[in-house]
Amino acid sequence: MAGKETAAATAAVVTVGDELLIGQTIDGNAAWLGQRLATLGAPVVFGVRAADDDEAITHALGVALERAPLVVVTGGLGPTDDDRTRPAVARALGAELRLDEGLSSDLEARFRAAGIAELPETNRRQCMVPAGGRVLANPLGTAPGLALDARAGVWQGAGRPPEVAGDALVLLLPGPPRELRAVFEAAEPEIHAWFGDALRPVHVRTLYTTGIAESVLAPRVEAALGEAREVDAAFLPGLTGVAVRLSVWGVADAAEAGRRLDGAEARLDDVLGAYRYRAPESGDLGEAVGAALVARKYTVAVAESCTGGLLAKRLTDRAGASAYFLGGVVAYADDAKVTLAAVDAAMIRRHGAVSEPVARALAEGARGAFGANCGVGITGVAGPGGGSDEKPVGTVWYAVAMPDEVHVRRQWFPGDREAVRVRAAQAALGLLLGLLEGR
Ligand code: ATP
Ligand code: MG
Repeated sequence: MAGKETAAATAAVVTVGDELLIGQTIDGNAAWLGQRLATLGAPVVFGVRAADDDEAITHALGVALERAPLVVVTGGLGPTDDDRTRPAVARALGAELRLDEGLSSDLEARFRAAGIAELPETNRRQCMVPAGGRVLANPLGTAPGLALDARAGVWQGAGRPPEVAGDALVLLLPGPPRELRAVFEAAEPEIHAWFGDALRPVHVRTLYTTGIAESVLAPRVEAALGEAREVDAAFLPGLTGVAVRLSVWGVADAAEAGRRLDGAEARLDDVLGAYRYRAPESGDLGEAVGAALVARKYTVAVAESCTGGLLAKRLTDRAGASAYFLGGVVAYADDAKVTLAAVDAAMIRRHGAVSEPVARALAEGARGAFGANCGVGITGVAGPGGGSDEKPVGTVWYAVAMPDEVHVRRQWFPGDREAVRVRAAQAALGLLLGLLEGR
């Protein structure tokens, strides 16, 4: 196969499907391909969606071929009449469709194993391979992927031929996301063979923070990294915090890229300090808290009001949570706070349910009721109703009872009900982590 030693390794993506255009399905395949191809070293520089029809697919392919020497087309490889990708692309590239005997006997065997003697005619179509096309096995479905070399000058599509600089590699991959991912594995060697040394892989490291706003964090990170730097920083804010994504571009040697990322991470130590948590598997603070509890051989219990069980969920999201999570109560009504979490009824009357003493009592009550080392209590106004001048919507008191001391915080969280609840649970987990890690 002719490689592209000198041309920049870039990709264009065409996603096919009416459902993507009418908004019934979100184009997750384009997002996934964007990440994978950037990681591989052939970043996506152009993307387009096409309806399930020959003309639209051909047009999209033509435009994509003008933009990059690798074009990935997903969707529309199914067995039904409305799956047009295979014939449309084959026709545009001047490649005749032929029955692939290997594919059809393989598919026949799979159908026989499933108790179907005769391969349906519709599925036989999926065994048609354009001349010169290479089959990319699909272990999860009936539609195989295909790799095609699109030679410059063979364009047979309607309209003006694309102004391609040279040959291109065209990959057809199935639309169902699980199948796309599986078949992409088979496509990776094609991409490596096609681009060779021209691939410019990206090495990424993500540092997670919580409890600091992007607008405050970003300038500090930029300043710490300095002007002439080897590492790019991107900020990914969400309800649970801001992730700092460090990336090194265009360095083939993984060890060298790792050294650059280590250097940048070290420079950010002071800046990220108390806001940083480590959750290599999930990026979730709950993972970091779980690890810190295990490290100290501590257990935790919770008593939640406004978060309605979200804190317990976050602490039990991962397998192995039974090593540190003992249990929790959702003490929503005032009476429930009294009977389930041993909060003093007179205290609620005096201070209100959303107050420092009640948060403290919830944390201590959870700790006592379950016999845990740590207890966490949350009480707040999630909204949209129920706010007052003194305690506007978004006001949350949360507390962590450690063996020696109870720590209480009041915070106001912006956003709607969902946002307030997510932020409140995250803040309580952040306080717990800080205390467990002694910072
Ligand atoms: P088959 O028809 O055999 O399932 P196909 O390759 O023709 O395979 P499509 O018909 O295009 O696949 O898509 C099947 C399903 O996969 C769609 O209904 C949709 O749920 C999902 N899907 C397709 N394209 C995308 C996409 N770009 N992003 C996310 N999901 C997608
Ligand atoms: Mg489809």
